[in-house]
Amino acid sequence: MTVLVLALDALDAGLVEQFDLDAVHLETSRDLETFALTQDLPYTPEVWATVATGLPPDEHGITGGGTSEWDNPVLEGLSRVSGRLDESTRGTLGRFVRSKTGERERIGRTDAESMFDADRAVVHNWPGVADGRPLQRAWDLMNAVAQGMPRSEFERELFGQCAQQFAWAREMLRHPVSIAGVHVHALDAAGHAYADDEAALRRTYDRVGEFVREVVDALGEGDDLLLLSDHGMRTEFYPPDAGENPATHSWRAYASSTTDSCPQSVYDVREWVEEQARKTRVESEGIEDSAGERIDVPTEHLRELGYMD
Ligand SMILES: [Zn+2]
Repeated sequence: MTVLVLALDALDAGLVEQFDLDAVHLETSRDLETFALTQDLPYTPEVWATVATGLPPDEHGITGGGTSEWDNPVLEGLSRVSGRLDESTRGTLGRFVRSKTGERERIGRTDAESMFDADRAVVHNWPGVADGRPLQRAWDLMNAVAQGMPRSEFERELFGQCAQQFAWAREMLRHPVSIAGVHVHALDAAGHAYADDEAALRRTYDRVGEFVREVVDALGEGDDLLLLSDHGMRTEFYPPDAGENPATHSWRAYASSTTDSCPQSVYDVREWVEEQARKTRVESEGIEDSAGERIDVPTEHLRELGYMD
């Protein structure tokens, strides 16, 4: 009886349609309202910390300061032009970016209470709340591919990480867990790297769709799945993005659930998840109660026979 939350970074509602990604159309789907605070566009650690805590960034304290992503103006510019440069120029640009942006600080972790503080709740990696290193590694991979890392190497490591995260999610369904959450950065990293290559990004979406199907197949009776994104990704090949900078975040965040409802905004997710967990807890405790009675009868009998005090 688990509510599983898959945080699919940058899953874009428009590209879900363009790529006919049926795997992420669960029982109820919708556009998810998101926000931007310290930057012009939604910023990953800020939004995911809000999803987990239900709080605005000024209350959970995870903001754009102290972290760097493609959203960094220098990196964002590089991500836009790097696909058109030869490899030695890319390498030079990469060294320039590193020298200008310097050592990266760690992604902060909020002190605020989150949905993963609930009884029997677990979280794997989640920006702003739990281990942020997988996200930093995905950012490093985005930098590396812009500097000339072969795509085969980029995808091997990116999907290797992604596969571990989905496998963890499936494993949690086999344990008495109330809420399980994991953040997956594959679609964001690939979206930045392949914003000018529709076939390559479609392949990435299809692969993530296969991972989602495996999770759906693993859901037990009474388990619920919510998948959602913090923002989408602008590309050169999605018509509504004409005139926008490709490889920057779009406002097309997405949510889908195996229940008859879905949160409307990133601010509503925590409440939605906790309400869903409360419902499944009531159901599962009903079952535990009746099991408990069956155990009590022989216990009482043993007591009568003098085997127990
Ligand atoms: Zn993001």
